[in-house]
Amino acid sequence: MFPSPQRYDTMTYRRTGRSGLLLPAVSLGLWHNFGGVDTLENARAMIHRAFDLGITHFDLANNYGPPPGSAEESYRMILRQDLAAYRDELIISTKAGYLMWPGPYGEWGSRKYLTASLDQSLKRMGLEYVDIFYSHRPDPNTPLEETMSALDHAVRQGKALYVGISSYSPEQTTAASKILRELGTPCLIHQPVYSMYNRWVEDGLLDVLDKEGIGCIAFSPLAQGLLTTKYLEGIPEGSRASKPTSFLKPDQITPEREAQVRRLNVIAQGRGQSLAQMAIAWVLRHPGMTSALIGASKVQQIEDCVAALKNLEFSAEELQGIEKILAG
Ligand code: NDP
Repeated sequence: MFPSPQRYDTMTYRRTGRSGLLLPAVSLGLWHNFGGVDTLENARAMIHRAFDLGITHFDLANNYGPPPGSAEESYRMILRQDLAAYRDELIISTKAGYLMWPGPYGEWGSRKYLTASLDQSLKRMGLEYVDIFYSHRPDPNTPLEETMSALDHAVRQGKALYVGISSYSPEQTTAASKILRELGTPCLIHQPVYSMYNRWVEDGLLDVLDKEGIGCIAFSPLAQGLLTTKYLEGIPEGSRASKPTSFLKPDQITPEREAQVRRLNVIAQGRGQSLAQMAIAWVLRHPGMTSALIGASKVQQIEDCVAALKNLEFSAEELQGIEKILAG
C-alpha cells in the first residue's frame, strides 16, 4: 500500500533556521537519475520509497535532466500518478541560475530570467506553486537587489512559499539576507555543497547562517559517491563516474582518495555504519545543519542513507580520527 501509514514514524525533522518549516534530516535531490534519459519506473520507485521513509522534501532545478527540464517533467508524471493527493505533505523546491535557453535571458540572476524560469518550472511540474524557489548561483553582473526582489516577487505572486540561495559566499549571503528581510521575505535556506571532501562552509558561511537565522541544506554530502565504498574495486558499470555526461570524472578517483576511503570506512564500521551513512551523519553534526541533500540511483541507496539517522553521535576520538585521515 502506498503511501505507508507508518511514513512519519522514524524520520527526524529539523527546523530550517529560525523559520516555521521543518525539513527531513535527509532530503532527496533529482539532479541525476530522474531525467528523460533515465528509467521512469526506477525514478518512481525511488520517490515512493523516499516518501514512505518520511522524506517529504524533493529538490529540483530548472536544468536537471538530462535533457534540461526533464527531471521536472518526470516529477510531474510521478506526482500526478501517485502523489497528487499528498501535495500538502510535500516540500518541493526548484531553482534558476544556470543555462536553460539561448539568448541573454536564459541564465544567471536577472528578474527577467528568474520570473520566466519559475513559470516554466511550474508548468513542467504541473504545480501552482513551489515551496522553495532558489537563486541557483550568485550573478556577478546583476545587482543583488534585482535578484532578491525577483525572489520576493515570486512569493508575492503566490508562485513560491519561501526563497533560498545556493552557493552564495558568506558576504553575499549577509547582503542577500538583509535585502530579503527588508523586502519582507526572509531568506529561508542556503544550499551549499558540503562533505568531508569540500568543507568551504566551515570558513564563515555556517556562522553567517546561524546569525541570520537561515537554514542550511548540504548538497552532495557523499561527494557524488566518492564517500562510499563503491569505487574501491574500480568503476562499476552504471555508476556516476562511468557516465560521460556526469560531473564526476574517473580521474577524481585517485589512489590517495581510495586509501582515504578505506581508512574512513574502518571508522564507519566501528560505528556500525556504512561509509555513506557516516558521511551523512558527519554533515549533520552541526546543529545548524537542517538537512543532508542526497542523490540516488537505486531504492536501496535511499534506505541505506536514511538509516544514517540511527547514529548521529560522534565521539571525540572518531572526529579526531576523521580529521587525521582527511588531513592526509
Ligand atoms: P550525493 O553526494 O549524495 O551523491 C549521490 C550519488 O552517490 C548517487 O547517485 C549514488 O551514485 C551514490 N550513492 C548514494 N547513496 C549511496 C549509498 N547509500 N551507497 C553507495 N552509493 C550511494 O549527492 P548528489 O551529488 O547527487 O547531489 C544531491 C542533490 O543535491 C542533487 O540531486 C541536487 O538536488 C542537489 N545539488 C545541488 C547543486 C546546487 O548547485 N545547488 C549542485 C549539485 C547537487 P551512483 O549514481 O553512482 O549509484
